[in-house]
Amino acid sequence: PYTGPSAEEILAKRQQYLSPSLFHLYSNPLNVVDGKMQYLFDENGRRYLDGFGGIATVCCGHCHPDVVDAIVKQINRIQHSTVLYLNHAIADFAEALASKMPGNLKVVFFTNSGTEANELALMIARLYTGSQDIISLRNAYHGNAAGTMGATAQSIWKFNVVQSGVHHALNPDPYRGVFGSDGEQYAKDVQDIIDYGTTGHIAGFISEAIQGVGGIIELAPGYLPAAYKSVKEAGGLCIADEVQAGFGRTGSHFWGFEAQGVVPDIVTMAKGIGNGIPLGAVVTTPEIAKVLTRRSYFNTFGGNPLCTAAGLAVLNVIEKENLQENALVVGSYLKKRLTELKDKYQIIGDVRGKGLMLGVELVTDREQKTPAKAETLHVMEQMKELGVLIGKGGFYGNVFRITPPLCFTKEDADFLVDAMDYTMSKM
Ligand code: PMP
Repeated sequence: PYTGPSAEEILAKRQQYLSPSLFHLYSNPLNVVDGKMQYLFDENGRRYLDGFGGIATVCCGHCHPDVVDAIVKQINRIQHSTVLYLNHAIADFAEALASKMPGNLKVVFFTNSGTEANELALMIARLYTGSQDIISLRNAYHGNAAGTMGATAQSIWKFNVVQSGVHHALNPDPYRGVFGSDGEQYAKDVQDIIDYGTTGHIAGFISEAIQGVGGIIELAPGYLPAAYKSVKEAGGLCIADEVQAGFGRTGSHFWGFEAQGVVPDIVTMAKGIGNGIPLGAVVTTPEIAKVLTRRSYFNTFGGNPLCTAAGLAVLNVIEKENLQENALVVGSYLKKRLTELKDKYQIIGDVRGKGLMLGVELVTDREQKTPAKAETLHVMEQMKELGVLIGKGGFYGNVFRITPPLCFTKEDADFLVDAMDYTMSKM
């Protein structure tokens, strides 16, 4: 049993010693002390079904024994900076990761987070093309450092950042966007930005395949092929941010971008890649990778033995346990059940996403699509009381984000939907 400090004591210390900007979900915050696969446990041993997976960071399941074993074995042997000496863990993981990539995406740079991965990708694109202009999508989240905060396009995540060189294109949002599900229409805005906002040459374009923080928005079909065409014609590189949609989460494909039939020039990843361990990566072609030999490029811990040993174990578990297939089967079932709830409750305006990356948008009025912000919070709180954790996001904070560990079962899906159903029936 847990004998550490109580939730109240931890909260008091957080308030005194931690950043005032640090926030938590729930008015009565949860003190998680243990995790096992798709479950979390609080200080009293109460079990919660984890429908958010630490913001899609847990793909194999909390404390998956194979991943824990790989980490323990490695830490008992050696943990060190990545640079200076050789170690097999980084090479083995890079090889395994490259084998999961399409085309000539064979060279891996390791980082410690998604922000760092995207910063590096943007820099590579700028170096390779000699241009500064980057296009990202409105409503995107790509990180919180100088460059990535510029690429991020939601006011809530932007501080007093210098926006230099980043242009934000119309978001191909099938639910709220002006062109509905016509991806090619939205992509014309990328061409317009190139034509009217740049010299005609750009450094690159960055986007998620399904926006995570933005509220599980699947880019309208046909968008990426058309946008990539404009970008390539302008000499730019196409960057796919797979921080949330990667590693089989979308079910139909290993990488989110594959559903749109495109091959990016650079792919960035983090979160699920380490099953919760700080690890990020940038994968690109040998030709593009060469730009980083112009100067010394150095990252003390990027690709350290501990994190890359974990990463390799994660890839092996995904394969061994058919987690991508499970994401497809269980995710499709969960989406079907959520869609049935939409028929029952007017407050559900939209159910969307793929595999185990699903969103439920709440509106007070289906015609006007008025965001039901307070109701979203209320349902989340009540579901927690029933033992189910989900996330929220979207520009208006009115979208449930359901991104559980990929070992989620149909019974878990039923429990989650039943808890949502019960809560909504009482409203
Ligand atoms: N890209 C996407 C799509 C993300 O969701 C996030 C984090 N929410 C990031 C990048 C940044 O990752 P990190 O927080 O690890 O820096």
